[in-house]
Amino acid sequence: MLEQKHYDVVILGGGSGGTSAAIALANTGASVALCERSQYRENRVGEMLSPWIRPLLTELGQWERFIQSGHLSSPGIVSCWGNSQLYENEFIFNPYGCGWHIDRSYFDHSMAMAAIETGAKVFLNTLVVDISYEEGLWNILIRQDGKIRSLKADFLINALGRSQFKKGILATERIYLDNLVGVVQVFQSNPSEATEDLRMLIEAFEGGWWYSAQLPKGKAIAVMMTDPDLLPVKLNDLEAYWKKSLLTTLYTRERVDLWHPANKLHIYDACTSHQNSFSGQQWLVVGDAAATYDPLSAQGILKAISNGINAAQAITSSELNHVKLFQDYNASLLSNFAMYTSEKRLYYNQERRWENTTFWKRRSGDYRNLVNTV
Ligand SMILES: Cc1cc2nc3c(=O)[nH]c(=O)nc-3n(C[C@H](O)[C@H](O)[C@H](O)COP(=O)(O)OP(=O)(O)OC[C@H]3O[C@@H](n4cnc5c(N)ncnc54)[C@H](O)[C@@H]3O)c2cc1C
Repeated sequence: MLEQKHYDVVILGGGSGGTSAAIALANTGASVALCERSQYRENRVGEMLSPWIRPLLTELGQWERFIQSGHLSSPGIVSCWGNSQLYENEFIFNPYGCGWHIDRSYFDHSMAMAAIETGAKVFLNTLVVDISYEEGLWNILIRQDGKIRSLKADFLINALGRSQFKKGILATERIYLDNLVGVVQVFQSNPSEATEDLRMLIEAFEGGWWYSAQLPKGKAIAVMMTDPDLLPVKLNDLEAYWKKSLLTTLYTRERVDLWHPANKLHIYDACTSHQNSFSGQQWLVVGDAAATYDPLSAQGILKAISNGINAAQAITSSELNHVKLFQDYNASLLSNFAMYTSEKRLYYNQERRWENTTFWKRRSGDYRNLVNTV
């Protein structure tokens, strides 16, 4: 027999967007359940946070926990973009201090623990398998330890990230603006050999761009961002291509030389895309499930947290006109996305050294090259 429980809000997905919404909702006394398929043991990408993380985590009551969690503080970003010089963007004048390089799995896990402490019910190791909506109520089917359970909710928040889970309202149209992927290598960085430079380094190359950074717990990361059709067809050739591209860089290769690979290369989807609607009848979508940003912006986690807080406010507002609040939420996400795409276009257009190569040609001019609509 199915066990059923009724919540004010059920949140699908426990990344930055889902956990923030859960904390913000539970802080207001709402009954909230969050369903997360993992136990946060796998490697997760998204490691750089700008100083603007501080006001968001302060609002959620999580800033003290964050600074005591061993994340690495970072004084700024250096980039080699548009010419061969290094450009330094220090955080010294930021009112919120330094940026951060985080252990992402640990960060998401500690946000989930904070949600539990705040009063949310968090189901870990729990897969969302189906959702339906009938007579003003959501019915969410979840699978945990092989058992299917059903949760009821007045409101639903979709925080499933880039997941391919598409049922009911989650099956709405999605617009894709590019096909970017990240080829990721995690390293052990021996502290005695490692560079003292704690800034993230961004560097353009013929086939895309690289980012690299030191991470907490003696780790480091280097990522080649490119288009999937520019990668070798055979996976066996990927490592050689990655190394060959690294050798074409001026600065990234120097720091990566000091690090020791800790695992195999992994390819992550990093495209820019958005859902065609961010809210509707008793539902909202937050974070990557709503819109995915190019990692060049380093805004994905901040955006997910800010969406989570705003979605919680729209649901728990004392104003009874949810329709209007949800429409405002939708409009604000749309306008943020428009701003992001215009900044992205400006930034990519600053790099002209390889303007006749496939990767850079695709990103020159305006966004004529809409790739795909699903
Ligand atoms: C290569 C790369 C580098 C990046 N670098 C940065 C960076 O430096 N800084 C930055 O701010 N952003 C970065 N980003 C973007 C950032 O990682 C995302 O924007 C952020 O993770 C979005 O958070 P989210 O909560 O919306 O989604 P996610 O973090 O993807 O969370 C979704 C959650 O849903 C769960 N889930 C999925 N399907 C199911 C299911 N059926 N049932 C239950 N649970 C499910 C997943 O396990 C996951 O925990 C990067 C992205 C890439 C690809």
